Amino acid sequence: MLIFPIFIIFYLIIVSSLVIILLFGPNERCQSNILGRSYRFLTTKFVTRMRILTTKICGTKIGVFSTFFQKYFLYSRNPIILLFYLLITGVGIFFFFKDVFPFFFETESLGKKHLILIPLCLIFVVFSLLISVLSDPGTITQENYKMYIQKYPYDNQIFFPRICETCGFQKPARSKHCKILNKCISKYDHYCGWLINAVGEKNYRWFLLFLISNCILCFYGFYFILKIVYSQLVHSQIFMETVLKLETGFQKDLLIVLLKIILNNQSKSIALLFLTLIMGISLLVFILYHFYLISKNVTTNEKFKLSDLKNYIIQKKKQLKYYKLLKKQQIEYQKQIQILNRLKKLKNMEITEQIKKLNIQKPEITQTDIILLKLDPNNLENIYNQGFWKNFYQVFFPNSPHLHPPLKQPTQNKTTNSLNNNNKKDN
Ligand SMILES: [Zn+2]
Repeated sequence: MLIFPIFIIFYLIIVSSLVIILLFGPNERCQSNILGRSYRFLTTKFVTRMRILTTKICGTKIGVFSTFFQKYFLYSRNPIILLFYLLITGVGIFFFFKDVFPFFFETESLGKKHLILIPLCLIFVVFSLLISVLSDPGTITQENYKMYIQKYPYDNQIFFPRICETCGFQKPARSKHCKILNKCISKYDHYCGWLINAVGEKNYRWFLLFLISNCILCFYGFYFILKIVYSQLVHSQIFMETVLKLETGFQKDLLIVLLKIILNNQSKSIALLFLTLIMGISLLVFILYHFYLISKNVTTNEKFKLSDLKNYIIQKKKQLKYYKLLKKQQIEYQKQIQILNRLKKLKNMEITEQIKKLNIQKPEITQTDIILLKLDPNNLENIYNQGFWKNFYQVFFPNSPHLHPPLKQPTQNKTTNSLNNNNKKDN
């Protein structure tokens, strides 16, 4: 009897962990914590280790075969995460209709309106999934790239005029060449494995709709199941006995009796209750994070780049500061050596040793670095930020003709042409 509840608990833990890792793992804030590490393990190390293991066990022929799978899993438009989504949603909906919904007609606290709300909610989820998977994220082509270049100016921080080697045209600011779709995407956000599609200027709103519809499904399901479970518990004989025992002071039995009810009678409903709650909260946090990004008019890709840029500038500044300090010391030393030499108190060997120690290499500074070092890493300017409401408008109406008013140019009037070939960061 206990096997089924244990299986459900394992299912809950594994599914919830996987969803949370896949949602939050790629986030730049989670890079160094357990979510980021687990995500990297799942998406790169796990597949690589499996390949090495199969090569060891089965020999090189299978090894070559598994290299193909490694490429398939990691670098191609594969439906694995989408299938995982369909599986957990499908299983959840199946058990909802099989084990929870039949009690709907016995539950007085749930009105008839739910007979319309449930199908509406499901249609909303299917619609948002289809439109997100099938929509164009904003593909840039030879024909339209000039139009995209006019949309956003280069900020000369993370976006510089540069040619996309694969597509063969100048990459518009805010775009990125998606390696999985193998095309440049306007206002690129990220590649979404759940939707087997890139998320960009044109379909960011559909991606949000997909998240919102699933979040509503989870919280609505949670509310509905909770009402039914509660109503069942109230009507159950064991519950009444427990209440009586509570009143007569037999409190010790309460937990055991409640666990018995949960494990025997309501195990699937309770599992669904936990699953919807965990998924709902995870999705809500994820949606709020994206709303925060929209309010600042920053894409996930830009958030990564800005964070990298900040670290890069801090690192370069440190190197330069250290170099200057050493240079100063070197001059001091040389002065002292000269004095000592004059006094003939230091042997020649010792002098060369000292100078060797002070052979300091100047950090390499490119043309781009000269511009970047003028920036304050803790206060990088975002020229694309148009204010709270306009930022939201831009996301939800990307095709609107009165969008993209002339954006402000970067504050420092920099010459960008010299940077064309120099910057490797803008990828
Ligand atoms: Zn490209």
